[in-house]
Amino acid sequence: THFGFETVSEEEKGGKVYQVFESVAKKYDVMNDMMSLGIHRIWKDLLLWKMRPFPGTQLLDVAGGTGDIAFRFLNYVQAQHQRKEKRQLRAQQNLSWEEIAKKYQNEEDSLDGSHVMVCDINKEMLKIGKQKARARGYKAGLAWVVGDAEELPFDDDKFDVYTIAFGIRNVTHIDQGFPGGTVVESPPADAGDTGSRSGPGGSHMPRSGWAREPWPLSLRVRSLCSAGGEATAALQEAHRVLKPGGRFLCLEFSQVNNPLVSRLYDVYSFQVIPVLGEVIAGDWKSYQYLVESIRQFPSQEEFKEMIEDAGFQKVTYENLTSGIVAIHSGFKL
Ligand code: SAM
Repeated sequence: THFGFETVSEEEKGGKVYQVFESVAKKYDVMNDMMSLGIHRIWKDLLLWKMRPFPGTQLLDVAGGTGDIAFRFLNYVQAQHQRKEKRQLRAQQNLSWEEIAKKYQNEEDSLDGSHVMVCDINKEMLKIGKQKARARGYKAGLAWVVGDAEELPFDDDKFDVYTIAFGIRNVTHIDQGFPGGTVVESPPADAGDTGSRSGPGGSHMPRSGWAREPWPLSLRVRSLCSAGGEATAALQEAHRVLKPGGRFLCLEFSQVNNPLVSRLYDVYSFQVIPVLGEVIAGDWKSYQYLVESIRQFPSQEEFKEMIEDAGFQKVTYENLTSGIVAIHSGFKL
């Protein structure tokens, strides 16, 4: 197992997660494409289409990593703005398309005051994101900040939209869900093949499918995944930094709702992904961790409840690709 049989405390989990992303940062994007066969791009596009940012949107992208959501946001607002303006210019001033293209060379004008703040705990991931931004020519409307999702370095009521894509399952907060408990005891020796959700982590422990793998694969901490239905610090922080009327959007791996897809997905996750991690990034363990953390995440309904517990309203979710991932949405009203 990635962290062996050691008992891992809350603080240690943070450190381990940091090491995982530090070690995968350089290969993160290529691995994302390989592991998801490029489908993560469609999921991220769908997140933006669901957001439909309005002109002047102030977006906070937490666990923003190498900037995939931020770049999509900037592209979206530029495209929106340009479509509208170009139509107006063509109609009112009878400009040629070349003249219009020249006018739109200044990016800042085309953002309508929209801005995205990328926040991530890992400076290596942000470093790669900044390099990508430079290479792609993004100059305005974008900022990068090192920060912890559980203790965001921002004032209250600051952003219109908060996004977190494939990030929230990596965030640890234990005390909120299980007062007083920071470590998990070793599993019982015969705890291997449990299809049930019982176990030392409570009702959110591994689901069936996962259960064919014995306990040693599990991450031995009570993490967000075992928060007992109570709001985690990360969700509360999301609520705090959003303006009234602001929207929370989370894209995350979830519970597959189709038995055939579930079977294939299990085989792919446990037998292919760590191998790809080893072959491409020379890092079996980090990719094994990623698979484990996905399997420990709460179901769509459970996560919806956690979002509601943090104070969000009108919470809904949408399954993508048979529930391999889901987009949860909620509003601070
Ligand atoms: N959002 C990006 C994407 O979709 O490509 C990156 C997702 S990557 C799987 C998870 C990210 O979460 C990593 O960049 C990691 O550093 C970050 N992360 C983990 N724990 C965090 C925390 N407590 N606060 C902020 N970011 C965190």
